[in-house]
Amino acid sequence: MSILIAGAGIGGLTAALSLHAAGFEDVRIVEAARELRPLGVGLNILPNAVRELAELGLYEELAAVAVLTGELSFRNRHGSVIWNEPRGLAAGYRWPQLSIHRGRLQSVLAEAVRDRLGAGAIVTDARVVDVTELSDGRVEVLLNDAAGRPTQTVADLLVGADGIHSAVRGVLYPDEGPPPWNGLIVWRGTTWSEPYLNGSTMVIAGDDQQKLVLYPMSTGAAPTDQVLMNWATARRADSTEPEYRADWNRPVHPDKFLRYFADWKFDWLDVPGLLSTAAEAYEYPMVDRDPLPRWTFGRVTLLGDAAHAMYPVGSNGATQSIVDGRVLAHHLAVRGDVDEALAAYEQERRPAMTQLQSSNRQMGPEIVIGLAHERAPEGFDDIHEVIPEAELRAISERYAQVGAFDPATVNSRPSYSVQRIRRSG
Ligand SMILES: Cc1cc2nc3c(=O)[nH]c(=O)nc-3n(C[C@H](O)[C@H](O)[C@H](O)COP(=O)(O)OP(=O)(O)OC[C@H]3O[C@@H](n4cnc5c(N)ncnc54)[C@H](O)[C@@H]3O)c2cc1C
Repeated sequence: MSILIAGAGIGGLTAALSLHAAGFEDVRIVEAARELRPLGVGLNILPNAVRELAELGLYEELAAVAVLTGELSFRNRHGSVIWNEPRGLAAGYRWPQLSIHRGRLQSVLAEAVRDRLGAGAIVTDARVVDVTELSDGRVEVLLNDAAGRPTQTVADLLVGADGIHSAVRGVLYPDEGPPPWNGLIVWRGTTWSEPYLNGSTMVIAGDDQQKLVLYPMSTGAAPTDQVLMNWATARRADSTEPEYRADWNRPVHPDKFLRYFADWKFDWLDVPGLLSTAAEAYEYPMVDRDPLPRWTFGRVTLLGDAAHAMYPVGSNGATQSIVDGRVLAHHLAVRGDVDEALAAYEQERRPAMTQLQSSNRQMGPEIVIGLAHERAPEGFDDIHEVIPEAELRAISERYAQVGAFDPATVNSRPSYSVQRIRRSG
């Protein structure tokens, strides 16, 4: 079976590796970018996806360029603790949680694809612009290079892993329009800085109107003991329409948002100092996609952000795109019939992702910072007089169950790896 994947992002690359590991040999990726460059800032990969990357044999290489996230700390805008919880190995998972630069993760995955599937497995400068189902059930894909020159290719199966502005999804849902915006603007970036707290803590501070997400994501490259911090701030925008299309790499000067954080000085962190010394900064409207009633049409299916883009809360965007590829490859390998396999993939993934998308629209686990602000806008002495511990714990546990990444599920569910089966034809 020939399988074509649109998009060499985290989801598409993992899908290619998973399909290859499951015995599929004719797997190609077409990527719109002229070359793969290590773009983006930080991602957190939850243990359920780290398990998948480990089972693909990539754990050591990734851990070497990541920080193992040990704790998640929710705080109010004064820096006071609302809720702390252990993460990854410290929470009892058999696999850690990784804070990693998106570009580094993508590079490790892309190198593995070229190593295992062949140097030509990723075709760059090939943007999917149209998809047609042929009468024999195969799929014809129209590609354009950057100059607009067209080429065509045919595959038995097309996997649309082409991100939040997916062209494949656009063919399946031509009337959908741009991703909906919730009115928040995200400013993201990186800063080399001294470690804070225990050196492996992810902090989410603020409330539902303005917040900061911060974590260390790599060490070693700086001449001192500094760590590369990933930060993302979000704030309700003054306008009702974003002035630009959601683009991960739109640069911004920190002066644009520094004033909103001028008094965010905690005894363990100087937020304005961190933001003003950024090595790079970008802005992005907080957009997602509406859940879809269906991902698969004939021999075309969707995966990752193309299928279920969600607000960046709870570290699930890249995490779930990794799991998608493994589940898709598993069902294609263990079921004789492709239509049945695609149905099984969609049945396993789509309802769960719909729930996560909805939960993220309610801020997911970050709802605790909104609750603390609503009940104690001026701060608190004892958080448990504001939000009982049981309520805080229940919010965290419920979210992990929605995403199927609670420790019991991740540690004990069967592997998606399959015995390699030699296929002919
Ligand atoms: C450049 C970039 C930087 C990012 N930076 C961050 C970040 O800093 N922090 C964060 O949390 N998330 C970031 N993300 C998003 C995050 O990586 C995704 O939410 C998540 O990994 C899901 O991955 P995905 O593979 O489904 O989609 P994506 O990672 O978006 O990958 C989609 C891929 O498809 C390609 N593509 C798009 N249209 C076409 C087409 N028509 N034909 C062929 N290929 C196409 C894109 O160039 C891209 O390589 C970034 C995404 C991109 C593309």
